[in-house]
Amino acid sequence: MEGALPARERVGVQDFVLLDSFTSETAFLDNLRKRFRENLVYTYIGTLLVSVNPYKELNIYSVKQMELYQGVNLFELPPHIYAIADNAYRVMCTERNNHFILISGESGAGKTETSKKILQYLAMTCPTTDHLQTVRDRLLLSNPVLEAFGNAKTLRNDNSSRFGKYMDIQFDFKGAPAGGHILSFLIEKSRVVHQNNGERNFHIFYQLLEGGEDELMRWLGLERNAQKYSYLMQGKCAKVSSINDKNDWKTVRKAFSVINFTEADIEHLFGIIASVLYLGNIQYEEDHRGHAIITDGTQIRWISKLLGVPLSILQEALTHKKIEARSEELLSPLNIELSFYARDAVAKAIYGRTFNWLVNKINGSLANTDPPRKTVIGLLDIYGFEVFETNGFEQFCINYCNEKLQQLFIEMTLKAEQEEYETEGIQWEPVPYFNNKIICDLIEQRHKGIISIMDEECMRPGEATDLSFLEKLEEKVGDHPYFLTRKLADQKARKTIDWVDFRLLHYAGEVTYCTIGFLEKNNDLLYRNLKEVLVKSKNYIIRDCFHASELDNRKRPETVTTQFKHSLASLMEILKSKEPSYIRCIKPNDAKESGKFDDVLVRHQVKYLGLMEHLRVRRAGFAYRRKYEVFLDRYKSLCPDTWPKWHGPAIKGVEILMKYLGYKPNEYELGRTKLFIRFPRTLFAIVDAFEIR
Ligand code: ADP
Ligand code: MG
Repeated sequence: MEGALPARERVGVQDFVLLDSFTSETAFLDNLRKRFRENLVYTYIGTLLVSVNPYKELNIYSVKQMELYQGVNLFELPPHIYAIADNAYRVMCTERNNHFILISGESGAGKTETSKKILQYLAMTCPTTDHLQTVRDRLLLSNPVLEAFGNAKTLRNDNSSRFGKYMDIQFDFKGAPAGGHILSFLIEKSRVVHQNNGERNFHIFYQLLEGGEDELMRWLGLERNAQKYSYLMQGKCAKVSSINDKNDWKTVRKAFSVINFTEADIEHLFGIIASVLYLGNIQYEEDHRGHAIITDGTQIRWISKLLGVPLSILQEALTHKKIEARSEELLSPLNIELSFYARDAVAKAIYGRTFNWLVNKINGSLANTDPPRKTVIGLLDIYGFEVFETNGFEQFCINYCNEKLQQLFIEMTLKAEQEEYETEGIQWEPVPYFNNKIICDLIEQRHKGIISIMDEECMRPGEATDLSFLEKLEEKVGDHPYFLTRKLADQKARKTIDWVDFRLLHYAGEVTYCTIGFLEKNNDLLYRNLKEVLVKSKNYIIRDCFHASELDNRKRPETVTTQFKHSLASLMEILKSKEPSYIRCIKPNDAKESGKFDDVLVRHQVKYLGLMEHLRVRRAGFAYRRKYEVFLDRYKSLCPDTWPKWHGPAIKGVEILMKYLGYKPNEYELGRTKLFIRFPRTLFAIVDAFEIR
């Protein structure tokens, strides 16, 4: 054999646990870079998979590759997302338990591509019949629809998911796909009315204008020109070279028919999409009293037709605010600024709720009607930790979500690890780790946490401001060790400097949040008369989205963060009951370029993805564990004493084999049913050689 070693030096190790200097971040990076250069974008840390976005098509996702990974043990082939998916699937089938695969990383790191490839793998792997084919197609085709409505071009990613997604794939007792269910989190509604330079609105708008059939376009009264629609031009880049809106429209159209959308659904749905575009084109002018009036009636006439709402009350609602004073209702005219605010609020509200309707509708078509003996694999594709120059309400929510996921990760990996050592009777020194529960509490604790404080401020409309919110924070959590405000010694200076920040020491690093807009976004208010209009809509999707019960003044709607807190809590419950697998995605550079490995950028991600910490835990324990029988069966050929047959108890055979392979007694442990190896060098050398081929 021509030296495995030089090759190994070239391509690095396929499991970080095998690195000689495992505490060194530099060694970690070297290994990642080496592999990246050789197009080996996947590397394990034990059973966790680290993935680096190649930004080019690699020849590792073919059907042949999929077949290769079927039913093969995790460490016997080069690291791959298929190995993770296959492992989850096999274990689910044999042990009849539920799994989830958590995919995390920052925007553009490859989460969504990974989750799609895993879904394809699972769809390909499991058995099918005609009926199952339908289930499978629906599972696969729900993606393009959700991406059309929930993804957009951003500076970081041409196809950036602007919502969090958890998808359960359900399997019947034969391991065949039986159905699915999707949960979505916090769609970024603000994008509907505003995009930063170089960014776009959600794909679906551009797809419709490019690809919409003539008849549909006539019914909607739209022109095939994004330039004509103010909401589509905020970022000044309607055309993107990597995106073919016309083709994507065709895919979405086809997907709609597979997931049971009727022509009526399509008409009503795009009636809403078009209405959003018309809303964006409404302009106001001021009358002599300073009240806003709508300049041109064309847009509201279209909206009135498409949403099935009377023109006059629509017009009134877009220029007035209803106030209740002593059981009397008064209409108060709005000025121009507030009218624009009302207009944008209604556009955001109908888009956001229509997105949720869409998810429900897809769930209806994925719903499984067969007997309930099902097991599931859940796929979580959710926004990673974010730190920008200015961080607002959205980053606060996203980073809170990441704290919760980190908490879950800590609980599940460390707990599972400790429990296994205990049941197997293995000696083990617990590894100290930072428990971020304290930060989760700081954010979410009832009455005391940041969310509660924010909600309290939202209860004081007209009085509370972003600054008063900040002062409340200072007063109530000011001395929390993970909370900081920009304290200024000179009280007078406070008035001149815009003092609007607070800082959280997240597990992944320090983030400064600017409180401007926090209360407004948390409240997410829609004027009452606008709601009244929507409740009466003849468009049944809108009617589904806005219930008359919302008009009940006694019921205060939950704030955005409180809703988010509840949906995260239920997500944690869903995940906790399942077996975890983790995939951590890394973005190699900010230029979306292949072959470019930006050390600073990657180092930063390695840090906040907690990879070094995970490696430390993995190293302190045993990277490799196998049932004696399985291990012996697999590797007995390496030793003359166990080959071709071993007659004694498996544990004895394994002991002999390990000694023969040159392992020292302190390098492995024999548990009750399993062999534990700290760093299985020899085995991996064999696998490494296989990888290089
Ligand atoms: P995220 O969901 O993490 O924001 P995406 O999964 O959308 O990121 O990936 C961003 C882009 O990177 C994709 O549109 C694609 O061009 C490229 N990409 C991601 N993963 C791969 C992969 N495995 N192979 C090739 N290109 C990829
Ligand atoms: Mg994504």
